[in-house]
This record gives sequence, C-alpha cells and structure tokens, in this order.
Amino acid sequence: MNALIDPHRGSHAGAHRAPSAEVQSITILGSTGSIGVSTLDVLARHPDRYRVHALTGHTRVAELAEQCRRFAPARAVVANAGDAKTLRGMLTASGHHAMQIDHGQEALCDVAREAEVVMAAIVGAAGLAAAMAAARAGRRVLLANKEALVMAGSLFIDAVVTGGATLLPIDSEHNAIFQCLPIPVDGGHQHAGIARILLTASGGPFRTMPLDQMARVTPDEACAHPNWKMGRKISVDSATMMNKGLEVIEARWLFGLAPDRIEVVIHPQSVVHSMVEYVDGSVLAQMGNPDMRTPIAHALAWPERIASGVPSLDLTAIARLDFEKPDPGRFPCIDLAYHALVSGGSAPAILNAANEIAVDAFLNRRIRFTDIANLVDRVLNALPASAPKSLDDLFEIDRKARECARECMDEVAAR
Ligand code: NAD
Ligand code: MG
Repeated sequence: MNALIDPHRGSHAGAHRAPSAEVQSITILGSTGSIGVSTLDVLARHPDRYRVHALTGHTRVAELAEQCRRFAPARAVVANAGDAKTLRGMLTASGHHAMQIDHGQEALCDVAREAEVVMAAIVGAAGLAAAMAAARAGRRVLLANKEALVMAGSLFIDAVVTGGATLLPIDSEHNAIFQCLPIPVDGGHQHAGIARILLTASGGPFRTMPLDQMARVTPDEACAHPNWKMGRKISVDSATMMNKGLEVIEARWLFGLAPDRIEVVIHPQSVVHSMVEYVDGSVLAQMGNPDMRTPIAHALAWPERIASGVPSLDLTAIARLDFEKPDPGRFPCIDLAYHALVSGGSAPAILNAANEIAVDAFLNRRIRFTDIANLVDRVLNALPASAPKSLDDLFEIDRKARECARECMDEVAAR
C-alpha cells in the first residue's frame, strides 16, 4: 500500500486537528523510560498546551510515583497487581488519593484510547497492542516504539488509515525525513520527485574496533553509545546496527518506499539526522544536536513549532561532518533486516522477536555480542514464512520465534 506520510495534511489519513488554543490531553506509554522522561521534560515547558491524562511504567515504580506527583495524571498503569498496590501506597502516603491505578495490557490499551495524543514509548513487542489501540481510536500517535511497526507493518498502517489517526514519527531519522518531505502543490501523488531516502547511523561504539575483539565486548560497553543516551535494548541494537535494520523496515511502512530506495549511511557525529534525495539531485537534510527532545517537540506541536530545551547547534564547534558506507561484515544485522523486509509476511516479526531474545541474553551474559546476529539468522531460517492477518496471528508468530530463539541459544553460544 502507498503509505507515504503527507507532511501537509498530516498522517496517512490526514485527520489532524487544526492548531487550537485548547489544552490537549496526552498519554505516555512507557513514561519511565528514556523517551518518556524526555517527553515529560518537553511537556513541562508547555503547561498551557498539554495536560497529562495517563502515565505508564513497567518496573521503576518509585520513579513513576514521582512523575505522578509532579504531573498529576488521571490514571497510571503498571505491570501487575503487586506494583499497583505499591504505587497506590506511595501516592496515598504523599496525599495523592484521586488517581486511578490499574495494571496489565487491557489497561494500557484503555489509556491509549482515551487521550487525544499518545506517545508510544514502550520498548519492544510489548508496546504493540496499546499503540495499535491508539491508532484504531483515531488518536494523534507519536511513534517511538519502532518494534510495533516492524512487527505489524501493513496491519498497523491499515489501523491508522481506518481509525483516522495521525501518525507522527519520533525516531530521529524518520522525524528528520518527515521534515524533509515535499509540500504538495497540487494535492498530487506524494512520491513525485523522491529518488531515495538516506538513513544516517552513528555506527555505535564499535565502528572502528578490531573485528576480532567484538566477540568479547561487555553489555556496559555496548550500552555506552557515543552520542545518544537511550534505554539498554536500543543501545545494544545501535551497537549491532540492528537498530538501523529495524529503522529501514520502519521507513518502508511510514513512507511507502521500496527497500532499494532506502539506504543506510554511517555518519559518526549524529548531527544530520537523515536525508531525502530528489530526482533533480537536491538532497535535503535535517540537522540538530542529538537530543530526542527535538523530534518529540516537533511531533507534539506539528504543524506548529515549540521550544524543546535543546541547545542551539554550534556547527563551528562540530567543525566537520563525516559519512561512510556500513561494513556488512562488521554489521550483519543490517542485511538480515533487509532480507526480512524483502521476504515480507511474518519475517520482520520473527526478526524482531529473535532479536529481543538475543539482546536480552547478551545483556544477561548468556551469549556473546557477535552471537546476536547468529541467533537471529538461525531463527529466521528455522521458521516457516506465513502471512499474518491479525494481531493474534502476530502474537502467535512472536511467541513461536521467541521459543525457537531460546531453543537455539545454547547451540549458538557453544560455537
Ligand atoms: P527504555 O528502556 O528507557 O524505556 C522503556 C519503557 O517501556 C519504560 O517506561 C518501561 O517501563 C516500559 N516497558 C518495558 N517493558 C514493558 C512491558 N513489557 N510492558 C509495558 N511497559 C514496558 O527505552 P527507550 O530508550 O525509552 O525506548 C523506547 C522506545 O523508543 C523503543 O522502541 C526504542 O526503540 C524507541 N526509541 C528510543 C530512542 C531513544 O533515544 N531512547 C530513540 C528512537 C527510538
Ligand atoms: Mg533512530
């Protein structure tokens, strides 16, 4: 399906609210994470524009309690009944009695349906159902949770279109591309004139490390990203460059481009966040300091602009911008993702699930860094292709891929 976002009219469905002076309600799915905290930082600068409807967190209950005291949402959602009780106790002790506190997936979907704006910032497949609920309910969906789109692809875009939602990318590369897309002059076909998109990537912490040392890197070394401070899962994905592979798939669905028109280029300074090349040779880039508050503020206020707290870009201090091709031998995950995208059907969901298990196993020191790609490759080869037609189909594919990854783990680790 042609799914190019139209920056003039908004999302696929084009149903965005006209800018108004009214305060908008917002739910943050995953408010205790890196993106969640950056979102709250931007919101705190604009109390006249946004009111927090709901906050959700999975493990850091004390942090969630502190956020609830500060932003006074109507609802909060945690992982289980025990955490809900703990959170209730913490808030009652500090005199905050009125908040509704729930737990579990259904409650996540409810709070995603209820607000006008939804920041989808849960990490991994765990965020899919709630992001989909927001899309079906026609909300303004700010999508950070790339794994949801990688897994669900056309099903997610269908939900956005039929729900009349406005889908805005938070991932810095996709937000940059969105900002560089053409403004239609005749309401005509939006692909006109785009030759390709160039997704930039820092190359992560191991871009220049001797290859024979990569098997021995530790989780802390993998999470020490040179330019961005992020959650641990996406930090490991950046180090293997599976993150860029997931982003290629994400770009395919957001912008409706064939895989051969999506290219990855390494740019170690992370100042150019991505580019769009046109048939006349023009290349438009979006630049800025590497700080997620810029794409968050952009997507919150679009088509307006609001302050984000990000310092102004000092190009003379940066002095130079470098670009290079990624080395497929060092970063095999990029090719795995392209193959999954071209195979289609269940392959991207299998890739994502196997990667989530592999990254978790690496973080828990069960497999080596270089085993991550091997494990994903093995699971992709082991499972038959299918064509998911519903969320339930996807959850079943996800479950089987995780099971297969756990079964293959010892064999991969022993090599
Ligand atoms: P994080 O680990 O810092 O935060 C994840 C959030 O999800 C936390 O609030 C956590 O409580 C919640 N969560 C985790 N597991 C959950 C589960 N099973 N059920 C419900 N909630 C759960 O991650 P992050 O870095 O903020 O990334 C969030 C998403 O945004 C990811 O999909 C990531 O790829 C994407 N993203 C992040 C950045 C970044 O700079 N951090 C940039 C681009 C895209
Ligand atoms: Mg990104």
